[in-house]
Amino acid sequence: MPIRLADRAAATSVSGIRKMFEIARTMKNPVNLAIGQPDFPVPPAVKIAAQNAIAADHNAYTPTAGCPELLAALHCALPQYEKEQIMVTSAVSGGLVLAYLALLNPGDEILLPDPYFVMYKQLALLLGARPVFVDTYPDFGLHPERWEAAITPRTRALVLGNPANPTGAAYAEDDLRALAELARRHRLVLIYDAIYETFSYDAPFVNVADFYREGTLFLGGFSKSHAMTGWRVGYAAGPLELLQTMAKFQQFTFVCAPAPLQDAALTALHKPLTGVAADYRSRRDLLYQGLLDAGYQVEKPQGAFYIFPQVPWGTATEFVDECLKRELMVVAGNVFSERDTHFRISYATSPAQLERGLALLRELKVKS
Ligand code: PLP
Repeated sequence: MPIRLADRAAATSVSGIRKMFEIARTMKNPVNLAIGQPDFPVPPAVKIAAQNAIAADHNAYTPTAGCPELLAALHCALPQYEKEQIMVTSAVSGGLVLAYLALLNPGDEILLPDPYFVMYKQLALLLGARPVFVDTYPDFGLHPERWEAAITPRTRALVLGNPANPTGAAYAEDDLRALAELARRHRLVLIYDAIYETFSYDAPFVNVADFYREGTLFLGGFSKSHAMTGWRVGYAAGPLELLQTMAKFQQFTFVCAPAPLQDAALTALHKPLTGVAADYRSRRDLLYQGLLDAGYQVEKPQGAFYIFPQVPWGTATEFVDECLKRELMVVAGNVFSERDTHFRISYATSPAQLERGLALLRELKVKS
Protein backbone atom coordinates (compact mmCIF):
# COMPACT_ATOMS: atom_id res chain seq x y z
CA MET A 1 0.00 0.00 0.00
CA PRO A 2 1.47 3.40 -0.87
CA ILE A 3 1.84 5.37 2.34
CA ARG A 4 0.59 8.94 2.18
CA LEU A 5 3.21 10.95 4.00
CA ALA A 6 2.82 14.44 5.38
CA ASP A 7 4.08 17.28 3.19
CA ARG A 8 6.97 17.85 5.60
CA ALA A 9 8.49 14.55 4.49
CA ALA A 10 9.40 16.27 1.23
CA ALA A 11 10.47 19.50 2.94
CA THR A 12 13.67 17.95 4.30
CA SER A 13 16.34 15.77 2.73
CA VAL A 14 18.53 12.93 4.00
CA SER A 15 21.75 14.23 5.49
CA GLY A 16 24.54 14.29 2.91
CA ILE A 17 26.90 12.99 5.57
CA ARG A 18 24.83 9.86 6.03
CA LYS A 19 24.91 9.19 2.27
CA MET A 20 28.69 9.42 2.30
CA PHE A 21 29.04 6.96 5.16
CA GLU A 22 27.03 4.48 3.09
CA ILE A 23 29.49 4.82 0.20
CA ALA A 24 32.39 4.46 2.64
CA ARG A 25 31.16 1.07 3.84
CA THR A 26 32.50 -0.42 0.60
CA MET A 27 36.02 0.97 1.17
CA LYS A 28 38.88 -1.18 2.44
CA ASN A 29 41.00 1.32 4.38
CA PRO A 30 39.46 4.79 4.15
CA VAL A 31 40.99 7.91 5.65
CA ASN A 32 37.98 9.13 7.55
CA LEU A 33 38.10 12.89 8.06
CA ALA A 34 34.32 13.21 8.09
CA ILE A 35 33.77 12.36 11.73
CA GLY A 36 31.52 14.58 13.82
CA GLN A 37 32.46 13.22 17.22
CA PRO A 38 35.58 13.13 19.39
CA ASP A 39 37.94 10.17 19.01
CA PHE A 40 38.57 9.65 22.75
CA PRO A 41 36.44 7.31 24.86
CA VAL A 42 33.98 8.43 27.54
CA PRO A 43 36.18 9.07 30.62
CA PRO A 44 36.28 6.09 33.04
CA ALA A 45 34.70 7.98 35.98
CA VAL A 46 31.75 8.94 33.79
CA LYS A 47 31.30 5.35 32.58
CA ILE A 48 31.37 4.12 36.17
CA ALA A 49 28.80 6.75 37.20
CA ALA A 50 26.46 5.45 34.46
CA GLN A 51 26.97 1.83 35.51
CA ASN A 52 26.41 2.70 39.17
CA ALA A 53 23.25 4.63 38.34
CA ILE A 54 21.80 1.68 36.45
CA ALA A 55 22.78 -0.75 39.26
CA ALA A 56 21.19 1.59 41.83
CA ASP A 57 17.92 1.52 39.86
CA HIS A 58 18.04 5.11 38.66
CA ASN A 59 16.24 3.89 35.59
CA ALA A 60 12.81 5.45 35.80
CA TYR A 61 11.45 8.67 34.32
CA THR A 62 13.00 11.76 35.86
CA PRO A 63 11.12 15.03 36.35
CA THR A 64 10.53 16.61 32.93
CA ALA A 65 13.07 19.37 33.56
CA GLY A 66 15.71 16.87 34.71
CA CYS A 67 17.22 15.27 37.83
CA PRO A 68 17.33 17.84 40.67
CA GLU A 69 21.01 17.10 41.42
CA LEU A 70 22.06 17.73 37.83
CA LEU A 71 19.89 20.84 37.65
CA ALA A 72 21.48 22.19 40.83
CA ALA A 73 24.97 21.63 39.41
CA LEU A 74 23.99 23.27 36.11
CA HIS A 75 22.69 26.24 38.05
CA CYS A 76 26.15 26.66 39.62
CA ALA A 77 27.70 26.51 36.14
CA LEU A 78 25.21 29.03 34.71
CA PRO A 79 24.76 31.60 37.47
CA GLN A 80 23.29 34.11 34.99
CA TYR A 81 20.04 32.14 35.16
CA GLU A 82 17.60 31.26 37.97
CA LYS A 83 17.11 27.57 38.78
CA GLU A 84 13.71 27.40 37.09
CA GLN A 85 15.23 28.85 33.91
CA ILE A 86 17.31 25.69 33.34
CA MET A 87 16.28 22.27 32.04
CA VAL A 88 17.96 19.04 30.99
CA THR A 89 17.32 18.11 27.35
CA SER A 90 17.87 15.11 25.09
CA ALA A 91 21.23 16.56 24.11
CA VAL A 92 21.56 19.81 22.20
CA SER A 93 19.49 18.40 19.33
CA GLY A 94 16.61 17.94 21.75
CA GLY A 95 17.03 21.52 22.96
CA LEU A 96 16.99 22.82 19.39
CA VAL A 97 13.82 20.88 18.57
CA LEU A 98 12.01 22.23 21.65
CA ALA A 99 13.23 25.78 21.06
CA TYR A 100 12.12 25.83 17.43
CA LEU A 101 8.74 24.33 18.42
CA ALA A 102 8.30 26.99 21.07
CA LEU A 103 9.36 29.96 18.93
CA LEU A 104 8.40 29.45 15.30
CA ASN A 105 5.05 29.56 13.56
CA PRO A 106 4.76 28.51 9.90
CA GLY A 107 6.05 31.39 7.80
CA ASP A 108 8.16 32.87 10.58
CA GLU A 109 11.80 33.53 9.84
CA ILE A 110 14.88 32.43 11.74
CA LEU A 111 18.32 33.82 10.91
CA LEU A 112 21.26 31.46 10.70
CA PRO A 113 24.84 31.85 9.56
CA ASP A 114 25.84 30.32 6.24
CA PRO A 115 27.69 27.91 6.57
CA TYR A 116 25.44 26.38 9.25
CA PHE A 117 24.99 23.23 11.28
CA VAL A 118 22.53 21.19 9.17
CA MET A 119 19.86 20.92 11.84
CA TYR A 120 19.50 24.73 12.11
CA LYS A 121 18.08 24.78 8.58
CA GLN A 122 16.23 21.45 8.42
CA LEU A 123 14.29 21.98 11.66
CA ALA A 124 12.96 25.29 10.36
CA LEU A 125 11.83 23.60 7.14
CA LEU A 126 10.16 20.80 9.14
CA LEU A 127 8.04 23.40 10.93
CA GLY A 128 7.17 25.35 7.80
CA ALA A 129 9.30 28.25 9.02
CA ARG A 130 11.77 30.04 6.74
CA PRO A 131 15.52 29.77 7.34
CA VAL A 132 17.16 33.06 6.33
CA PHE A 133 20.86 32.70 5.65
CA VAL A 134 23.40 35.28 6.74
CA ASP A 135 26.42 34.85 4.52
CA THR A 136 29.68 34.70 6.49
CA TYR A 137 32.03 33.95 3.55
CA PRO A 138 34.90 34.34 2.94
CA ASP A 139 36.37 34.80 6.44
CA PHE A 140 33.53 33.13 8.41
CA GLY A 141 33.44 36.06 10.82
CA LEU A 142 30.16 37.12 12.38
CA HIS A 143 29.56 40.43 10.52
CA PRO A 144 26.71 41.71 12.74
CA GLU A 145 25.69 44.29 10.11
CA ARG A 146 24.76 41.44 7.73
CA TRP A 147 22.48 39.96 10.40
CA GLU A 148 20.82 43.32 10.91
CA ALA A 149 20.21 43.65 7.17
CA ALA A 150 18.46 40.25 7.12
CA ILE A 151 15.89 41.12 9.81
CA THR A 152 12.27 41.54 8.66
CA PRO A 153 8.96 41.86 10.55
CA ARG A 154 8.67 38.03 10.32
CA THR A 155 12.00 37.38 12.06
CA ARG A 156 11.54 35.63 15.41
CA ALA A 157 14.96 34.29 16.35
CA LEU A 158 18.64 33.97 15.51
CA VAL A 159 20.62 30.77 15.92
CA LEU A 160 24.38 30.69 16.28
CA GLY A 161 26.89 28.00 17.21
CA ASN A 162 30.09 29.16 18.87
CA PRO A 163 32.60 27.66 18.16
CA ALA A 164 30.95 26.78 14.88
CA ASN A 165 30.40 23.64 12.86
CA PRO A 166 31.55 23.35 10.02
CA THR A 167 33.92 26.35 9.93
CA GLY A 168 35.58 26.07 13.35
CA ALA A 169 35.09 29.83 13.73
CA ALA A 170 35.02 31.25 17.26
CA TYR A 171 33.63 34.75 17.23
CA ALA A 172 35.23 37.91 18.57
CA GLU A 173 33.73 39.24 21.78
CA ASP A 174 32.97 42.64 20.20
CA ASP A 175 31.01 41.01 17.39
CA LEU A 176 29.07 38.86 19.86
CA ARG A 177 28.24 41.96 21.88
CA ALA A 178 27.04 43.70 18.72
CA LEU A 179 24.88 40.69 17.76
CA ALA A 180 23.39 40.55 21.26
CA GLU A 181 22.68 44.28 21.05
CA LEU A 182 20.82 44.04 17.78
CA ALA A 183 18.86 41.00 19.01
CA ARG A 184 17.84 43.08 22.03
CA ARG A 185 16.90 46.08 19.87
CA HIS A 186 14.70 43.92 17.63
CA ARG A 187 13.38 41.80 20.54
CA LEU A 188 14.64 38.54 19.02
CA VAL A 189 15.57 35.38 20.85
CA LEU A 190 19.19 34.40 20.33
CA ILE A 191 19.61 30.63 20.38
CA TYR A 192 23.23 30.12 21.38
CA ASP A 193 24.57 26.64 20.69
CA ALA A 194 27.64 26.15 22.88
CA ILE A 195 28.17 22.44 22.27
CA TYR A 196 31.82 23.04 21.31
CA GLU A 197 32.49 25.36 24.28
CA THR A 198 35.35 23.24 25.62
CA PHE A 199 37.03 23.17 22.19
CA SER A 200 38.06 26.85 22.21
CA TYR A 201 41.76 27.09 21.37
CA ASP A 202 42.94 30.66 21.03
CA ALA A 203 40.75 32.69 23.37
CA PRO A 204 38.43 31.90 26.27
CA PHE A 205 34.87 30.92 25.33
CA VAL A 206 32.49 33.91 25.36
CA ASN A 207 28.93 33.45 26.58
CA VAL A 208 26.49 35.77 24.83
CA ALA A 209 24.13 35.37 27.80
CA ASP A 210 26.54 37.64 29.69
CA PHE A 211 25.45 40.49 27.37
CA TYR A 212 21.82 39.55 26.69
CA ARG A 213 20.60 37.26 29.45
CA GLU A 214 16.92 38.12 29.02
CA GLY A 215 16.83 37.01 25.38
CA THR A 216 19.49 34.30 25.07
CA LEU A 217 18.65 30.62 25.04
CA PHE A 218 21.91 28.89 25.98
CA LEU A 219 22.24 25.28 24.77
CA GLY A 220 25.03 23.15 26.18
CA GLY A 221 25.83 19.48 26.21
CA PHE A 222 28.15 16.60 26.92
CA SER A 223 28.21 14.91 23.50
CA LYS A 224 31.45 16.53 22.40
CA SER A 225 33.06 17.55 25.71
CA HIS A 226 32.95 13.99 27.07
CA ALA A 227 32.43 11.99 23.85
CA MET A 228 28.93 11.03 25.04
CA THR A 229 27.27 11.48 21.63
CA GLY A 230 25.18 8.34 22.02
CA TRP A 231 23.96 9.16 25.52
CA ARG A 232 21.77 12.11 24.58
CA VAL A 233 22.18 14.49 27.49
CA GLY A 234 22.33 18.28 27.22
CA TYR A 235 20.79 21.34 28.80
CA ALA A 236 19.03 24.58 28.04
CA ALA A 237 18.92 27.84 29.98
CA GLY A 238 16.92 30.86 28.96
CA PRO A 239 13.97 33.20 29.47
CA LEU A 240 11.45 31.68 31.89
CA GLU A 241 8.45 31.69 29.55
CA LEU A 242 10.47 30.02 26.82
CA LEU A 243 11.88 27.40 29.20
CA GLN A 244 8.43 26.60 30.59
CA THR A 245 7.09 26.12 27.07
CA MET A 246 10.03 23.93 26.11
CA ALA A 247 9.47 21.82 29.27
CA LYS A 248 5.79 21.49 28.36
CA PHE A 249 6.74 20.23 24.90
CA GLN A 250 9.35 17.89 26.40
CA GLN A 251 6.48 16.17 28.29
CA PHE A 252 4.89 15.22 24.99
CA THR A 253 8.02 14.36 23.03
CA PHE A 254 11.25 13.26 24.71
CA VAL A 255 9.64 12.97 28.21
CA CYS A 256 13.09 13.25 29.82
CA ALA A 257 16.74 12.71 29.03
CA PRO A 258 17.93 9.14 29.85
CA ALA A 259 17.80 8.86 33.65
CA PRO A 260 21.02 7.00 34.52
CA LEU A 261 22.95 9.06 32.01
CA GLN A 262 21.85 12.24 33.76
CA ASP A 263 23.73 10.89 36.81
CA ALA A 264 26.72 10.29 34.56
CA ALA A 265 26.42 13.83 33.18
CA LEU A 266 26.63 15.15 36.74
CA THR A 267 29.98 13.38 37.11
CA ALA A 268 31.07 14.73 33.72
CA LEU A 269 30.20 18.26 34.78
CA HIS A 270 32.52 17.92 37.77
CA LYS A 271 35.31 16.42 35.65
CA PRO A 272 36.15 18.66 32.69
CA LEU A 273 38.73 17.07 30.41
CA THR A 274 41.79 19.29 30.54
CA GLY A 275 44.26 17.65 28.12
CA VAL A 276 41.90 17.32 25.20
CA ALA A 277 41.82 20.94 24.05
CA ALA A 278 45.63 21.13 23.89
CA ASP A 279 45.74 17.87 21.95
CA TYR A 280 43.09 18.98 19.46
CA ARG A 281 44.74 22.38 19.12
CA SER A 282 47.97 20.75 17.97
CA ARG A 283 46.02 18.67 15.43
CA ARG A 284 44.37 21.88 14.23
CA ASP A 285 47.82 23.42 13.78
CA LEU A 286 49.14 20.39 11.91
CA LEU A 287 46.20 20.34 9.52
CA TYR A 288 46.03 24.09 8.97
CA GLN A 289 49.75 24.35 8.21
CA GLY A 290 49.61 21.25 6.00
CA LEU A 291 46.76 22.73 3.95
CA LEU A 292 48.52 26.09 3.62
CA ASP A 293 51.72 24.37 2.50
CA ALA A 294 49.73 22.39 -0.06
CA GLY A 295 48.37 25.67 -1.47
CA TYR A 296 44.79 25.48 -0.22
CA GLN A 297 42.82 28.64 0.47
CA VAL A 298 41.83 28.23 4.11
CA GLU A 299 40.83 30.25 7.19
CA LYS A 300 42.43 29.29 10.49
CA PRO A 301 39.73 27.83 12.74
CA GLN A 302 39.79 28.74 16.44
CA GLY A 303 37.51 26.05 17.84
CA ALA A 304 35.47 22.85 17.46
CA PHE A 305 37.35 20.18 15.47
CA TYR A 306 36.68 21.16 11.88
CA ILE A 307 38.38 23.16 9.17
CA PHE A 308 36.60 24.40 6.05
CA PRO A 309 38.96 25.02 3.10
CA GLN A 310 37.98 26.14 -0.35
CA VAL A 311 38.07 23.42 -3.00
CA PRO A 312 40.97 23.92 -5.42
CA TRP A 313 38.89 23.14 -8.54
CA GLY A 314 35.33 22.28 -9.62
CA THR A 315 32.40 22.25 -7.23
CA ALA A 316 32.77 20.84 -3.74
CA THR A 317 30.57 17.90 -4.75
CA GLU A 318 32.88 17.10 -7.68
CA PHE A 319 35.98 17.50 -5.55
CA VAL A 320 34.61 15.30 -2.73
CA ASP A 321 33.63 12.61 -5.28
CA GLU A 322 37.26 12.57 -6.39
CA CYS A 323 38.37 12.33 -2.73
CA LEU A 324 36.04 9.37 -2.21
CA LYS A 325 37.55 7.58 -5.23
CA ARG A 326 40.85 7.74 -3.33
CA GLU A 327 39.16 6.56 -0.13
CA LEU A 328 39.42 9.95 1.54
CA MET A 329 36.25 10.92 3.39
CA VAL A 330 35.52 14.65 3.73
CA VAL A 331 32.16 16.43 3.45
CA ALA A 332 31.07 18.70 0.59
CA GLY A 333 30.24 22.27 1.57
CA ASN A 334 26.69 22.17 0.19
CA VAL A 335 25.72 19.90 3.09
CA PHE A 336 26.22 22.94 5.35
CA SER A 337 25.72 25.82 2.99
CA GLU A 338 23.80 27.34 0.12
CA ARG A 339 27.17 27.35 -1.67
CA ASP A 340 29.18 24.37 -2.90
CA THR A 341 32.65 25.84 -2.84
CA HIS A 342 34.31 24.49 0.32
CA PHE A 343 34.67 21.16 2.11
CA ARG A 344 34.72 20.16 5.74
CA ILE A 345 37.60 18.21 7.26
CA SER A 346 37.28 16.88 10.80
CA TYR A 347 40.48 16.47 12.81
CA ALA A 348 38.88 14.33 15.49
CA THR A 349 41.24 11.55 14.49
CA SER A 350 44.87 10.56 14.97
CA PRO A 351 47.74 12.71 13.65
CA ALA A 352 48.79 9.67 11.55
CA GLN A 353 45.39 9.68 9.79
CA LEU A 354 45.65 13.45 9.33
CA GLU A 355 49.05 12.99 7.65
CA ARG A 356 47.57 10.35 5.33
CA GLY A 357 44.72 12.72 4.52
CA LEU A 358 47.11 15.61 3.85
CA ALA A 359 49.17 13.47 1.47
CA LEU A 360 46.02 12.69 -0.53
CA LEU A 361 44.91 16.33 -0.47
CA ARG A 362 48.30 17.39 -1.86
CA GLU A 363 47.74 15.03 -4.82
CA LEU A 364 44.15 16.20 -5.25
CA LYS A 365 45.15 19.86 -5.39
CA VAL A 366 45.54 19.50 -9.14
CA LYS A 367 42.66 18.02 -11.14
CA SER A 368 43.73 14.67 -12.60
N1 PLP B 1 25.10 21.59 17.49
C1 PLP B 1 26.17 21.48 16.70
C2 PLP B 1 26.82 22.71 16.18
C3 PLP B 1 26.67 20.22 16.35
O1 PLP B 1 27.75 20.12 15.57
C4 PLP B 1 26.02 19.06 16.85
C5 PLP B 1 26.49 17.72 16.49
O2 PLP B 1 27.27 17.51 15.60
C6 PLP B 1 24.90 19.23 17.66
C7 PLP B 1 24.47 20.51 17.97
C8 PLP B 1 24.13 18.07 18.21
O3 PLP B 1 24.69 17.64 19.39
P1 PLP B 1 23.97 16.64 20.40
O4 PLP B 1 24.69 15.34 20.26
O5 PLP B 1 24.18 17.27 21.74
O6 PLP B 1 22.55 16.55 20.02
